[in-house]
Parts: sequence; structure tokens; C-alpha cells
Amino acid sequence: MKSSRELNFDTLVVGGGIGGLEAALNLADQNFKVAIVEKDATVGGKMIRLSKVFPTLDCASCITTPKMAAAAHHENITIFTYCDLKSIHRKSEDVVIAAVTQKPRYVDADKCIGCRQCEYACPVYVPDEEQSNFALRKAIYIPFSTAIPQLALLDVDNCSLCGKCAKVCPTDAVDYFQQSEEFVIHAKTVILASGFKLTPIDQKPEYGEGKVENLITSMDMERLLAPNGPYQRVLRPSDGKEPDSIAYVQCAGSRDKTLGVPYCSRVCCMYAIKQAMLLSGSLPLADITIYYMDIRAFGKGYEQFYQNAKAMGIEFVKGKIAKIEQTDNQYVRLRYEDQEGSCGVIERDHDLVVMSLGMVPDWDPTDVCSVARDTDAFIKSTMPQIAPTLTSISGVYAAGVATGPKDIVDTINEAGAAAMEASNYLIALGKKQAA
Ligand SMILES: Cc1cc2nc3c(=O)[nH]c(=O)nc-3n(C[C@H](O)[C@H](O)[C@H](O)COP(=O)(O)OP(=O)(O)OC[C@H]3O[C@@H](n4cnc5c(N)ncnc54)[C@H](O)[C@@H]3O)c2cc1C
Repeated sequence: MKSSRELNFDTLVVGGGIGGLEAALNLADQNFKVAIVEKDATVGGKMIRLSKVFPTLDCASCITTPKMAAAAHHENITIFTYCDLKSIHRKSEDVVIAAVTQKPRYVDADKCIGCRQCEYACPVYVPDEEQSNFALRKAIYIPFSTAIPQLALLDVDNCSLCGKCAKVCPTDAVDYFQQSEEFVIHAKTVILASGFKLTPIDQKPEYGEGKVENLITSMDMERLLAPNGPYQRVLRPSDGKEPDSIAYVQCAGSRDKTLGVPYCSRVCCMYAIKQAMLLSGSLPLADITIYYMDIRAFGKGYEQFYQNAKAMGIEFVKGKIAKIEQTDNQYVRLRYEDQEGSCGVIERDHDLVVMSLGMVPDWDPTDVCSVARDTDAFIKSTMPQIAPTLTSISGVYAAGVATGPKDIVDTINEAGAAAMEASNYLIALGKKQAA
């Protein structure tokens, strides 16, 4: 491991999703120096992985990529990707110290020009997690075409060490002996924008514990619907058949005490309706059914979006799915109590079923940072009504799904508010130091 270097910034942003990028851009435009530390090999968070976004059905990639590029090219922003955040603590009013480990890419970031010659030459194929494992990638690869930075990454666990990538690299960037590097960031303020992950699909025995072949997650469906997805069409996993009947199971990972997720994840109704509308465009003859407990269309234009989906012929069935199982002929069987029609227990088979999973925090700060968490495990806002981005540590703010489930609009708003709080802190500190 190489020795630590020390870097100074006004603000450290943890997480390079849409929340972190927006907060960083707001501060950088005010001439503050910002460091973004991201654990993935690219910035963009979940939004860059979506197909289209509700309620406008804008292409997610088309509206996220400009923000990613603006942050990457901003003279006041430095992005550190593929990093592990080891610790953050406030030393004094004007210093927060963060210890960071740069994980090895086995590719020299200063030399790599993103030409992908290594990727083309690599003979090893492995499932591509960026495409929900529906497609394959190479052992040395750039995560996806709009990834930022455009730097190759060697997956050592799958590399056969054949040396072909190093041979074709025009800049000698491949370095099989690269080591992790530690560095320290000194900042005055911090914005935590660490986002979410989906509730696990395999923890509910009634839902098949992840073993039902044609039962996929909502994020899997985002990839199937994306223009840069694995097949450019929607196919079911077990046999590659185009599904004639698709169902959504709402509240599959939210409002469920048995999973330890009693809260509503707020975006699942809307993203299921969005996906159903996109599906009825790409598979006009398919039957699409959404099984729901309540439809929560809370934002501006969202109720109209829901009504439009109904008018398009998408079927909404009020009933909580009690059991999901696979039939002998690869259908997914759903068992539910029909709460509006017959009021009886009904079983229906579908070609493909999507679990509308909820949101849980992506980051557990316990051993890294003393910031307080709420009973739902998201970062605690100490003044939720009037200053929702304030945390238990002075000068440390939180934005986006790091504080609780929310959509992109609310994430952007909160990121702006967190940037404003950080800016006020920095200005007040500057005045104090000048006095
Ligand atoms: C299936 C699905 C579809 C959706 N569709 C829509 C839609 O159409 N419209 C809409 O408005 N919303 C939609 N959403 C919600 C949307 O994805 C979120 O609102 C948005 O991504 C929140 O952004 P964020 O930056 O807070 O979090 P994220 O996108 O999760 O970004 C957080 C970033 O922080 C990084 N990170 C986490 N921990 C650390 C750490 N310790 N150190 C460094 N980096 C870290 C992560 O790698 C990630 O890059 C959808 C959600 C899902 C699940």
C-alpha cells in the first residue's frame, strides 16, 4: 500500500449519484472546491442506470450524462471513483478529516485513454452486473458507454492473466501489480449523498427466496427497457420468450414489517406505472397487471400519469400478493385476496413478474462516521421540518435518498438545500477567520 497524501477541499461529497452531483455542482459554481468520493467505478448512481423517468418519460441517460460530464469537467470539482471511505470525523470547526482508499483498477488512470482496445482483446466473458447479469462483459472493461470516468477496470477475480490486454494497450496503462492507495481529504463541510439499494429479493420465503426464474426486480426491468439494455427488447429470463402477460407486485419490499421495512418507499407505485406504460409501448399485445395495496401518486403530475396508465389499458388489481411460486411450465403463479372484485382468494399465472422492491440505505456509517441514524436506518435529519438536510454533526449535511426514500425531483431539491447550508457554513467560517 502506498503512503497517504493529503488533499484540501471546502466540501467533501460522499456519493456521486444525482444527489451528490447536484450538490457538488451548486457549490462549485459558487467557487468552492469540492471532492466527490464514489465507491463505484463511475458516477451517476441509480439514475444513469434507469430507462426513462416518470412523470415526463425523458430518457434517463440523456438527462443524467450532462450532469455527470459537467461535474467531471468543472474546474472546482475533483471526482474520486472506485474508492472506499474508511473514516470521517470532525476535528475542529474548520476541519473534517476523511480517510479514503483508492482501490486498484489494475489500469493506470493517468495513462488510460478509454479506447477499449483491452476490452476487445480480452478473451474472458463474465455476467455483466450493469445489465442485471442478462448480458456478458469482459474481465477488463469500462462499466458502460456513458460511464464517467471512461477508464478501464480489471476484474482480477475473473482475469486469466493471459496478458492480451497489456499487449494491445497503446499507452501501457495495464498494471497487474497496481496496489491500493490511501489518501486523506481535509474539508470544512461534508454532504452525505450515499443513496439506496433495493430491499433484498431473496429474504421472503413466501416470494420464492429468489429461486423463481421469471421473477425479476424493478431494476432488472429498467435494464430490459433501456435503449442501451441487454437485448433492446423485453425477454423473460428462463427461455428468452417475449412475455404475453406481465405483472407487478407492489410493496414487495416496503410496508412489510417481516422484512424490517415498515415504511413506504414512495417511488415504487410511480416507477411500476412508468414501466407498465413503456411495456405497453414495446409489447402492445401483452397484458399488464399491477397488484397493489394503495396507489400513492403524490407528486406534481403523478395522479394524471396514473390515470393515463389506466386509460392505456393497464389493469390495476387491489390485493396484496401472499405467495409467489413457479409452475411446471415456467409461469409465475401469484396468489392474492381480491379486495375489490370477488373478495376471494385467487391464483393467476403470468409469463413474467416484476417485484416492486423498496429502498434501504446503501451505506451503514456505523464504523466510519458518528452521524446519527433514524429508526429506519437512513441518516437522521435533526430538523426535518425546517432544515431537512441538517445532521447530528455540525457542518455535515445529507441529501437525496441517504435520508429516506424519495424521487429524483425531491433529491435534486434536497441536494440544492444541502449545498446552500454548506455554502452558508463556509461563508460564516470565512468571516470568522477574517475577523
Ligand atoms: C427501479 C427504480 C426506478 C426509478 N425510477 C424513477 C423515475 O422514473 N423517476 C424518479 O424521479 N425517480 C425514480 N427512481 C428513484 C431514483 O432512482 C432516486 O430518486 C435517485 O436515484 C436518488 O439519487 P441519490 O443520489 O440520492 O442516490 P443514488 O442514485 O443511490 O446514488 C448514491 C451514490 O452514492 C454511492 N455511495 C453509496 N455509499 C457510498 C460510500 N460509502 N462511499 C462512496 N459512495 C457511496 C453509490 O454508489 C451511488 O453512486 C427509481 C428508483 C428505482 C429503484
